[in-house]
This record gives sequence, C-alpha cells and structure tokens, in this order.
Amino acid sequence: MIHRHLFPALFFLMTVLPAGGMDMASAGVGTRAPADTVTFFLLPTARGETREMYTIAGGRFGAPFTLVYGAVLVARGKDVFLFDTGLGRRVDKQFEENMPWWAAPFFEYKKGRPLALWFEADSSLPRPRRIFLSHGHWDHASGLPDFPTLPVWLPRAEYDFIHNEGPPAVFPSQFIRPDSLWHIYPFEDKPYAGFEQSLDLYGDGSVILVLMGGHTPGSVGMFINMADGRRYLFPGDLVWNRDQIENQQGKFWLSRMLADYDGDRVEEVIRKMRALQLQDPGLRIIPAHDDRAWNEILGKH
Ligand SMILES: [Zn+2]
Repeated sequence: MIHRHLFPALFFLMTVLPAGGMDMASAGVGTRAPADTVTFFLLPTARGETREMYTIAGGRFGAPFTLVYGAVLVARGKDVFLFDTGLGRRVDKQFEENMPWWAAPFFEYKKGRPLALWFEADSSLPRPRRIFLSHGHWDHASGLPDFPTLPVWLPRAEYDFIHNEGPPAVFPSQFIRPDSLWHIYPFEDKPYAGFEQSLDLYGDGSVILVLMGGHTPGSVGMFINMADGRRYLFPGDLVWNRDQIENQQGKFWLSRMLADYDGDRVEEVIRKMRALQLQDPGLRIIPAHDDRAWNEILGKH
C-alpha cells in the first residue's frame, strides 16, 4: 500500500531574474521581457522520500534523500515553454492503472500542487505555448493530459521510445493526443559543451538543447544562458543525485537496471558533465529530482 497525501499549500514559486532585475509583481515576466533575456521558473509538483543509497552507487542507507518532481517553465521574449510536466492531476489514476505492483514501492510520491493548478493559482505566470520533455518517463509526462491543446516537442528517438515502451517506465495513457500535437524536432551535428548534437532554440545561445541519450534513447539536456552570465544545465534524469557528477558515480545498481536504457552512455554523459563543471565552476547543474539543487535555486533569487 502506498500512502500519499497532499503537501501543505506551500507556495514554492521563485524566479530567476533576468539581468537588470525585474520583479514579478510589476513586470509581467515573459510579456515585457526584452527579447534577449531568458527567465525560468521552477514549479515543483510533488516530492518523495528515499534513501541516498537508492540514488547513487555507494550511497548510504542511513541518509535520507528527498526527490522532487516538477517542471521548468522557460520564458524568452514572447515564447514560453515547459520543460517536463512533473506529476499531473491524474497521477494517482495513471499510477494505479499502469504501474505494475512489483515496481510501485520504488516510486512512492507525495503530491504537491500539479502544474495546471500553478497556472490557475497565479495569473502572472507566463502561459506555456508548447511542451518539451527531458524524456518520456511517466514522472515527467504525467501532466501532459492536463494541457491537451499544447504541442509536445521531442526528438525522433524519444517519440519512438515512448510509443514502443510500456510500464513501468512509460505510461501509454499519458500520450493520448492527436498526431498534430506531436512535434518532432531535429538536432544539428553541432557540438555544444562536449555534446555531439545540439539545438540552439532561438539562435542566440540563450537556450540550447543537447541530445544526451543514455537514460532513454532521446533524453535531452537543456542549457539556459542568461544575459548576465549565469548558466544552468538541466540534465533531466541522467543523474538523480548531483553528487553523482562530482563523484562520477552511476545510480544504485537496481535503479540503474530499472531506469537507465543505456548505462554506458549514462556514464559517458556523467564524465562529460564532470569535465564541464571543472571547466566552468559557475555552471549550475540541476538534476530533475535533486531537491537540494532545486532548493538552492528557489531560495537564492
Ligand atoms: Zn524521473
């Protein structure tokens, strides 16, 4: 039996301000932001408690580890998009229908505020026009049915993966939408930050997607380069625990077996991120589920 209960109504929204400092209350971020600025919001939708040892090879059983499930809302000029959707309104139903009983205990979660409610609760949040996925696992795609009219952008390899893979990793019920709302985008053979293929979304270096693979065939990482020089990397689930990058460790063996599509490629990407971090110590790497990394950003800006 999995116990889930609602989080207290904590309002976690914070924003990373563009250069020049705009404040949410007066600025209407995303509508009045100059075209060359990029802003993002971290929107947590759920959290879960686990043990460090389940997130990183060699981790401690005695050390608790909090997982966050959420989305990154990115606004650049008039374009606004979601990077992942966290756990959606129907997550319990999706979970009960699709998650095999033997896998359920590994994925316990405590619901917070689903993404759709963030937008209902705050009219100043910029409205997304499209959704990118770091990858198609259920805990990233659960909110898709809550945005039935938005196009979903993903690379061919991930589109094929989600339409061929099943539970426990992928929940087919989350992907029911018309063909016209799937947008497959190509990467260019342009190396960026050590990754072989990249896509400069706006042609100005502000948001760059890179094909990471490994965790799933079409796993995508997102770099955000702000006008004032701050740089962020959202590597999705290539790592669950950011210590994996510094220590160059994979996930716990069972987690790796259950969750990673190509473990060798995951290790290669971890090495790339380590090299990148050494070369650019100011780069903030924010894994999709590492609550500590999220909280540092939530609290600082
Ligand atoms: Zn995940």
